[in-house]
Amino acid sequence: MPLSLPNPLPSLPPSFPIYWRDDVHYEHARIGRVFNHRRPDRYPIAVVEAKREEHIVEAVKLAKTLNCRVSVRSGGHSWAAWSVRDDAVLIDLGKFFELSYDSETNVAKVSPSTTGRMLNTLLGHHGRFFPGGHCPDVGIGGFALQGGMGWNCKNWGWACERVLGVDVVTADGELVHCDKSQNTDLYFAARGAGPGFPGIVTRFYLQTLPVYSCMRSAAYFYSKEDYRKAVSWIIKLAGDYDPDTEIVAVSSYPPGCDELRVMVLLVTFKNSEDDARKALQVAEDCQPPGKVDGWFMKPTSLRCEYDDQAAANPEGHRYCADNAYVSNDADVVSVMEQAFTTLPTRKSFALWYAMAPCSRRPLPDMALSMQSDHYLALYTIWEQKHDDAKNRAWVKDTMRGVEQHSVGAYLGDSDFQSRQTRFWGQEQGKRLMQVRKERDPQGRICGFLDEGDKSGVEGLPNEHHWLL
Ligand SMILES: Cc1cc2nc3c(=O)[nH]c(=O)nc-3n(C[C@H](O)[C@H](O)[C@H](O)COP(=O)(O)OP(=O)(O)OC[C@H]3O[C@@H](n4cnc5c(N)ncnc54)[C@H](O)[C@@H]3O)c2cc1C
Repeated sequence: MPLSLPNPLPSLPPSFPIYWRDDVHYEHARIGRVFNHRRPDRYPIAVVEAKREEHIVEAVKLAKTLNCRVSVRSGGHSWAAWSVRDDAVLIDLGKFFELSYDSETNVAKVSPSTTGRMLNTLLGHHGRFFPGGHCPDVGIGGFALQGGMGWNCKNWGWACERVLGVDVVTADGELVHCDKSQNTDLYFAARGAGPGFPGIVTRFYLQTLPVYSCMRSAAYFYSKEDYRKAVSWIIKLAGDYDPDTEIVAVSSYPPGCDELRVMVLLVTFKNSEDDARKALQVAEDCQPPGKVDGWFMKPTSLRCEYDDQAAANPEGHRYCADNAYVSNDADVVSVMEQAFTTLPTRKSFALWYAMAPCSRRPLPDMALSMQSDHYLALYTIWEQKHDDAKNRAWVKDTMRGVEQHSVGAYLGDSDFQSRQTRFWGQEQGKRLMQVRKERDPQGRICGFLDEGDKSGVEGLPNEHHWLL
């Protein structure tokens, strides 16, 4: 039984931006900003479209009065729509907007619904850059909290390593600042807890990088039959490749092509044509024979890359994603073969994202602690509801063949309702669950959406489901 609306409704400040479940604007507020059109049948009691920090504090206090939970939405790009939770007060941060840059410290101050594209547009005017999500419209909020696999993550590290501090409304409705010297438990959690963060971040303090003035790419397309040849080649090459070059292998049906292709793509971030050529030449010189298409030294830019990513992840579609960090000692090419060669729809894609050498260095003291050299992700994309079961089954079946060769998974492309695995190192996982219990003993903040939304204060087991 859904929670009934309180009668009378609690008194709130005039013009407080709330839509109760019986409001005409409610349905739009509930799911209008959810990227995945496979929309959930979950119904918050109300949606607060916060415009100011005080609205967030007020919404948490309201949830306390009603004795219900709070859920949060920043950019709305969680594949599993984690922000939409039964009977919670959903705080949507889409209208709470702050974005500034301090040229003395090189630090950007950013509200959580700021997207990577918005942030980099501002920073570009100052000759700076932040390695946010590859898709332009992912919110910094969900992205940075779960670690943030941003541009050239394999070399420059996780986006959350550049989070210098966060402002947080706690589960008790108190506003606090967290960094390496104050509220250090929350600062630990803010870098890798993802949807299990026991508070609401209202502001991120981000260390920026100098912008790169010369971006170039090289691509090598192979037929499906040459999957093993192409992927073995790039896996061998990637670990100690040039440090400003991101490397990915993607299986997809390119626009206008009826056949599945395996593309190896290198994007280099440099400041001169010469440096870019030197970086890309290494792959060019040892590419395996038999490519069916490709390019070398193609001029590109963050804007072009964002456009390509947006086209690969079209709006208005239904999605199912999953992922695994394939173990470094696995036969990676064989483990990924089904994912790469049997895509269920023309719009779907599978990718291997090179993570070494950063995956092999010790990480700072933060919740994010799971990685391997090989990130495999499946993105299944379709249009019609009647294809849901078939496409979800493909993801499940494909992951069944992968998961026992993996060390764990990344929160960002996961759905805990479908699959439990490890998301943190053992110690970091235990510490994170402890921080959650101490900071939110009532389970006010919704946390991890597992099957039946039962995880509550306990959080996740951080264990592979076959070992539970
Ligand atoms: C098209 C697409 C491309 C993507 N590309 C990348 C990529 O390149 N790299 C990568 O790492 N990930 C990527 N992702 C995954 C993405 O980063 C995650 O889905 C992330 O959760 C999205 O953040 P959001 O704020 O947009 O989502 P939301 O759905 O708004 O947030 C997800 C959850 O995070 C928590 N949360 C968000 N904001 C706050 C806050 N302010 N305070 C407390 N908790 C909060 C809440 O539990 C919330 O429900 C991509 C996703 C999509 C759909």
